[in-house]
Amino acid sequence: MQVVRTLEELRSIVRGWKREGLSVGFVPTMGALHAGHLSLVDLSTAQCDRTIASIFVNPTQFAPHEDLDSYPRQEQQDHDLLRGRGCDLVFCPEVSVMYPEGEETRVSVPQMGAKLEGPFRPHFFGGVATVVAKLFNQVEPDKAFFGEKDYQQVQVIKRMVIDLCFGIEIVPGPTARAGDGLALSSRNAYLSAVQRAIAPVLFASLHRCAIRMRNGTPPEIALAEAKAAISKAGFENVEYVDAVDPGTLDQITDTLPDYPCRLIAAAWLGKTRLIDNIAL
Ligand code: AMP
Repeated sequence: MQVVRTLEELRSIVRGWKREGLSVGFVPTMGALHAGHLSLVDLSTAQCDRTIASIFVNPTQFAPHEDLDSYPRQEQQDHDLLRGRGCDLVFCPEVSVMYPEGEETRVSVPQMGAKLEGPFRPHFFGGVATVVAKLFNQVEPDKAFFGEKDYQQVQVIKRMVIDLCFGIEIVPGPTARAGDGLALSSRNAYLSAVQRAIAPVLFASLHRCAIRMRNGTPPEIALAEAKAAISKAGFENVEYVDAVDPGTLDQITDTLPDYPCRLIAAAWLGKTRLIDNIAL
């Protein structure tokens, strides 16, 4: 596996592969890799001739009060994990490569980004769309792989790819979970032992809510029950538990449509914000 830090080297390697007619899959990450990230690498190696992962903790998607400085960084371990999964190249750019001096251009996906997470993390999807657009222009992959764990992110990226005419196929991968149901996340490392024992209630409550709705409980009631259960378990602040249209992310409050919608939630456990979602 090649470890690449400059754009010149990245481009020369990718162009060589393309001249040979090889397809390129891309998995963007912020590092601190776990089985969720690696499942996306597996999807890419199964579908593409060459796989590139990136590791870049993107400053523009963190608000000043968020955890940019304390975000877990473990580059050597990440490289070993990627190498073991058959990744061909890991791109680890410096901040100055991604945000050259004098930079000012931003990408925004204002409507899709304003839903669900939008009111709580207004800076977030602008930062994500900006860095992913840059990475797409740098890597020029055929396919890019994103986890459904960050469901709104997948929809924002899909919108951006259509709107900015990127010729890249976006492939979502299913959420990888611990044995007790907790969605794997680099931020789970922040949880104390007591919080870690409470954390699976987020997924369990969504699961129960889905069953209640399928059995005919009106969405409003089933969602309120899920919120109450998450609070009762010890989450301090349940920001949202919503049923949404899987494509538009518009809220479903009345009767369920006859196609699968998405149950999606965000809540704080101490100083850690957890998100999760499931298909209904
Ligand atoms: P991050 O490093 O958190 O920016 O995540 C990089 C990619 O991994 C994103 O596409 C995430 O959606 C995906 N990802 C994170 N956690 C999981 C998970 N538990 N299962 C599947 N994909 C995940």
